[in-house]
Amino acid sequence: MTTLPKFPLQFGKEENLIRVIAAYAAKRAEEIGAENVFNFSIGNPNVPAPTRLTEALQEILRTVPAAELHSYSPAAGLPWVRKAVADDLNARYGTDYTADDLYLTAGASGALAMAFSGLLLEGDEVIIFAPYYPEYVVYAESFGGRVVTIPCREEDFQIEPETLRAAITEKTKIVVVNSPSNPAGSIFSEKTINAMADILREAEARFGHPIYLLADEPYRELVYDEHITLPFIPKLYDNTIYCYSYSKCVSLPGERMGYLLVPPQVEDHRDVYAALAGAGRILGLVCNSSLFQHLLPHCLDITSDLGIYKTNRDLLLETLTAQGYEMARPDGAFYLVLKATDGDDLAFCERAKEFELIMVPGTCFGYPGYARLSYCVETETIRRALPEFEKLMETYR
Ligand code: PLP
Repeated sequence: MTTLPKFPLQFGKEENLIRVIAAYAAKRAEEIGAENVFNFSIGNPNVPAPTRLTEALQEILRTVPAAELHSYSPAAGLPWVRKAVADDLNARYGTDYTADDLYLTAGASGALAMAFSGLLLEGDEVIIFAPYYPEYVVYAESFGGRVVTIPCREEDFQIEPETLRAAITEKTKIVVVNSPSNPAGSIFSEKTINAMADILREAEARFGHPIYLLADEPYRELVYDEHITLPFIPKLYDNTIYCYSYSKCVSLPGERMGYLLVPPQVEDHRDVYAALAGAGRILGLVCNSSLFQHLLPHCLDITSDLGIYKTNRDLLLETLTAQGYEMARPDGAFYLVLKATDGDDLAFCERAKEFELIMVPGTCFGYPGYARLSYCVETETIRRALPEFEKLMETYR
């Protein structure tokens, strides 16, 4: 009998647990009615996309000739769309980007896949900070990387510089930074990013090769407190590859809009851009949806009504704390990590299901002992879920 190569067959065997739990919630909704299920599992924005965008879409469909609108674009995206994005970034951050530094991707996921695929060689090391977005591990390992996990500081979710310094080796190629973060909703301060940048520059000089900061920022616009400023990482560290997405800020996750930015400050900038573009080709990305490329310039100066997420965060923080739960205060994104009452997150999330409370165990995010609660839901859903949280807590008393 022929022995089939093992490696390709392994792909896809391990399911994305967040999707599995979201599918369970959907099944329960069919069984007992959506209003009776409190689905805090997945980060699907519940606030509608701005009306201005849906109107712009209709206008595009009405005015752009179909043959042009639905044709292939250049793989990196329509040059005038990329220029609009570059101009917007330059106006916001005082940078000097051009259309040629940008590559339009299928959300941040497309950008991440291209970056991991284009940068990694077999055996390269990728540093990620726990708790982390689980897909980093999938991308890194699929493209030959070895993941090195560093825990964030428990008290403020920042990085202990000495821990990072100790984790870097000659093989370190990528350090992933996600801020505001999924799942903790935490934000890396400028001080933290500067400390990281110093350590990386010193390691680059020591080992004689670039170490890339891969900044993954789909939640950039979701910051709730005015006194918090989000540093723009490419300005603090030259070898930054930047991934952005319109999934969350304008509530269009299914339309797959995002970009990869390779700033001109990156060492061997054109070669790095070409390597990532080549990776996109190998991954079969061809080009982003042409219709939604036409929409992209309309998304630059607008967001959905994000205020509801702050309302939800405040309501959850206040009430769950009063009920006896422990959690860190999230400063952004729409997630929070709740301490599993007896420390066992898998058992806690299973028990929560008895009250139709659907959460994702922290184990998925390299953060056992906690459960992730995704609060991009109607505030009313939270109000109705709160007594169920009280009952859940009661079972531990
Ligand atoms: N990065 C993080 C941290 C996320 O939470 C997500 C989605 O939830 C993504 C990337 C991918 O998002 P998208 O591909 O829709 O932009």
